[in-house]
Amino acid sequence: MILRMSSLFLRTLREDPADAEVPSHKLLVRAGYIRRAAPGVYTWLPLGLRVLRNVERIVREEMDAIGAQELVFPALLPREPYEATGRWTEYGPNIFRLKDRKGADMLLGPTHEEMFTLVVKDLYSSYKDLPLSIYQIQNKYRDEARPRAGVLRGREFVMKDSYSFDVDDEGLAASYEAHRAAYVKIFDRLGFDYVIVQAMSGAMGGSRSEEFLAIAENGEDTFVRSPGGYAANVEAVVVPRSAPVDASAVPAAEVVDTPDTPTIDTLVDTLNAKHARTDGRDWTGADTLKNVLVMLLHPDGTREPLAIGVPGDRAIDEKRLGAQVEPAEVVAFDEADFEKHPTLAKGYIGPGVLGKDNTSGIRYLLDPRVAEGSAWVTGANKPGFHVINLVHGRDFTADGTIQAAEVRDGDQAPDGSGVLETARGIEMGHIFQLGRKYADALDLKVLDQNGKLVTVTMGSYGVGVTRAVAAIAEGNHDELGLVWPREIAPADVHLVATGKDPEVFTKAAELAADLESHGLSVIYDDREKVSPGVKFKDAELLGIPTIAVVGKGLAEGTIEVKDRRTGTRTDVPLQEITNHLVTTVRS
Ligand code: ATP
Ligand code: MG
Repeated sequence: MILRMSSLFLRTLREDPADAEVPSHKLLVRAGYIRRAAPGVYTWLPLGLRVLRNVERIVREEMDAIGAQELVFPALLPREPYEATGRWTEYGPNIFRLKDRKGADMLLGPTHEEMFTLVVKDLYSSYKDLPLSIYQIQNKYRDEARPRAGVLRGREFVMKDSYSFDVDDEGLAASYEAHRAAYVKIFDRLGFDYVIVQAMSGAMGGSRSEEFLAIAENGEDTFVRSPGGYAANVEAVVVPRSAPVDASAVPAAEVVDTPDTPTIDTLVDTLNAKHARTDGRDWTGADTLKNVLVMLLHPDGTREPLAIGVPGDRAIDEKRLGAQVEPAEVVAFDEADFEKHPTLAKGYIGPGVLGKDNTSGIRYLLDPRVAEGSAWVTGANKPGFHVINLVHGRDFTADGTIQAAEVRDGDQAPDGSGVLETARGIEMGHIFQLGRKYADALDLKVLDQNGKLVTVTMGSYGVGVTRAVAAIAEGNHDELGLVWPREIAPADVHLVATGKDPEVFTKAAELAADLESHGLSVIYDDREKVSPGVKFKDAELLGIPTIAVVGKGLAEGTIEVKDRRTGTRTDVPLQEITNHLVTTVRS
């Protein structure tokens, strides 16, 4: 395959696109791989499509290798199956909904659990048919609140999604392990520096769940890991409940005067100035219990206030909170909401009015660090006043606990495996055991060995294919442009002919044909009126791993070969050039 720059459908750009913030987005647009069609919706130009196909090929090969079979569902789907599982409502504004000419509701599939479950129900009826793994590589549609960074978070994107069907839990565990191993191979081949972390199962329900995160500063996900091998998305970190403590020596709760202390810092200063502790140490933020109000917006449109109590030295992590209350969305508890709850004194809210059985009637959940028997300084529900020595279990109770406080560097791993360190990543793949949730909702049963009907158990496994292109670009570029790993690159060799000498172009064309006959794909820069400088800039921007230059050296019988990643240049004699390039590409 030879792609001639003189006719290739490509325009490289010298300027970064105005809407691009991260390097991969800038470079993929500048190098002519993708073009924006609408926010979060992109066109794949010839070179971009070649990269995308390479990623797909790797994914396909590894899925086929574990015996998964490819099929493809429509993206345009009927409402009913999604209604049956509750997701028509749960997905809320995140799905694209449309009506056909008869007024029937349809949607563009955000993920296809329902359709896969139904097709298996349609065709299979016995345990003898299982296990089964089927997959597709197909466009998905999600009306993301914040499409971002080009194809990294699109509203139309390509996902590989596979689903396993087993008759029992052991079968599911084996299918899950097979997929996990295939994912390791896929992400190794894609050249990612990645971690496998424990994950939340999100809108899909289910039990065991892990994510493959590409380690990247620009990633939207935060994960933690410990020296002892614990690794989890922060969303999935489960902080253990602190053991109860003895409160018998804690004096009775006492309301104290703390004027103008709506924040933790002002409160701590005032306490130390006016209400010094008797044990000699100073008050700190960790002694305070901060009560934060949020509003949950449920998919059916109802609003539910929620109060969360966390130690005052810790913030609420929006993503952790969001993951806990899904499918509800967290929105601000605004002035109008405060007006509806007159017992709430803004800045001085305490457990005294919170909880289902209290005056506000607002559900109250505590951080698991707030041990039974522990004493706190917290709001007295009166502007300018706090209460000290308020003991959990003695003086107040809550409706439960919630994993919503931030997880920080230096926190202990929940499994006791050491101190946590946080880092960021891009979610590239997600595998989880759905269990019987979908099979139950859609009544997928088969006859077991004893002729008894049993519900099938399922796994669901996704890879972000278009996202992978962006994430690979994110991890493989320099100030000059992209630097593709060999297996992903849109061509094997970028061949540049420079100067005006017709002999140069004749030799370069011969070399291109020769490489093609050896099975290599070549981008051949045959443009006659373009300066060498522009050609070199384009070659660097496009990021093919090997660049060969036919030009000045030809008089001495050599061609310059440049390694795009290391910048190393070698002058290779003409008679050895084909062999040299073929060996380089195949090594
Ligand atoms: P995220 O948390 O990033 O929104 P998700 O957890 O909703 O992703 P899944 O439903 O697990 O995503 O989808 C499987 C895979 O599809 C993800 O691991 C990711 O690689 C990819 N993916 C999900 N949403 C997008 C998107 N908007 N654009 C591109 N790829 C996506
Ligand atoms: Mg996910």
